[in-house]
Amino acid sequence: MNIAVGGFFHESNTFNPIVTTEQDFVIFEGDAIYSQGESYLLAKGIVDYFRDSKEYRIVPLNFARAVPNGEIELDFYLRLKARFFELLAAESSIDAFVLALHGSMRVKTLGSAESDLLKSIREKYPATPIFCGLDMHATITKTMLETAQGLTGFKTAPHLDAWDTGMQAAYMADKMLRGKAELHMAAEHIPCLIAGEKAETDHSPMRELMMLTMALEAEDDLCAASIFLGFPWADAAENGVNCVVVCNSNPDKAQAYARTLADAFRASLPEFSFSAPALQPHEAILLALQDTCRPVFISDSGDNPTAGSTGDNTSMIRLLNTLPELSHSSKRILMAGIFDPQACELCKSRMGEDITLQLGGVFDRQYCKPESLGGRPLRLVEGFGPFGSDLILFSSKHFDLIITSKHIGFTGVEIFKALELDYMNLDIIVVKLGYLTEDFKAISAKHYLALSPGCSDEVLDRLHYKHQEGLLRV
Ligand SMILES: [Zn+2]
Repeated sequence: MNIAVGGFFHESNTFNPIVTTEQDFVIFEGDAIYSQGESYLLAKGIVDYFRDSKEYRIVPLNFARAVPNGEIELDFYLRLKARFFELLAAESSIDAFVLALHGSMRVKTLGSAESDLLKSIREKYPATPIFCGLDMHATITKTMLETAQGLTGFKTAPHLDAWDTGMQAAYMADKMLRGKAELHMAAEHIPCLIAGEKAETDHSPMRELMMLTMALEAEDDLCAASIFLGFPWADAAENGVNCVVVCNSNPDKAQAYARTLADAFRASLPEFSFSAPALQPHEAILLALQDTCRPVFISDSGDNPTAGSTGDNTSMIRLLNTLPELSHSSKRILMAGIFDPQACELCKSRMGEDITLQLGGVFDRQYCKPESLGGRPLRLVEGFGPFGSDLILFSSKHFDLIITSKHIGFTGVEIFKALELDYMNLDIIVVKLGYLTEDFKAISAKHYLALSPGCSDEVLDRLHYKHQEGLLRV
């Protein structure tokens, strides 16, 4: 039996005016999944499930993933989709699609990429089952529920189980194809939006809710139970929370399982709160200045590139540059960082010289202004990481700053190591991030969440939604 495997993975922030294009993506196709799967673990999980099987043959299609950012350029998405079907056209028959998708990828003027892709598959392959492994922050649409036979999502945030989720999507396909099961999917929608920083799975109530999904999956007739949170930084009409189950007994039972999960979720709504102290940005800095432990992390959460923000909001840089309390502090402070290709270029041509930069505020013109910062570009790393960003370490009077040439996330210590930073001896690390990654949790002595402005503002009521009437903002 032939299993078509492919996927596009992007979380698209509609408040960010950047249009995400081909150059922002890592793209590969066909057998490259066997060598590049480590960079796309959700897809690797699917492939690993089937790869040694004698009954199944994997038909690898195309794979594309990028750092969350603004919505995707329409022409580029249409090219990706065309290539997906071009690769399929060479096959005489496909027995199932098992796809690695995000669920909150949005295309300019088109809306949900996943809805569009699944609808097109259904038109061309009316009887072929479709299964998807998805991110926990997927926005589940009516079209996705009507076209797919099985959806399953991550159970951890920070996301550590992408590979396992791919395996689970593949398992559902296997179960159906071997004739062992007729599958029934049911969903219950809860009209609310929750910032990811209030829904870490190490903390209540998500920890207990995820334990409930796993307890339900231990039932003989349940293949998958997922809570999809939606993505608050997309002004999408179909946003919100969805409890989705895939069951092999009957539709009524599936609906009952979905209701059990949704009832538990609704009952937990009053418990959702930030997992770290959430403060006004200047308060977070002042508190961190008084702390004696190190390194103290402050998340510049309103401009979190891993939630699709621009990465060039200057509000925290402005504070670090102007707060009077910093002028007589000896604390070693790092700001990680800012996305500014022009500043990066200028620094590259003036390494070691004293210069003044006009930083940021190029993409995010709504929530900040460019900031003037004097200092010296100290170190340069070219082509860092899978997206090949140049990195500059820029030293100003009160703090050091990492400037990137590409829109990348600050998710681990590799970026500090590349710049030869003695990061364990820094007093304060301000990072454009929301909840801390496992890498940062391991080294952080303390963590504050600065409620800074930007395209990933944690205070959802400060954002101007136009298409989400009736959604409760938690
Ligand atoms: Zn996510």
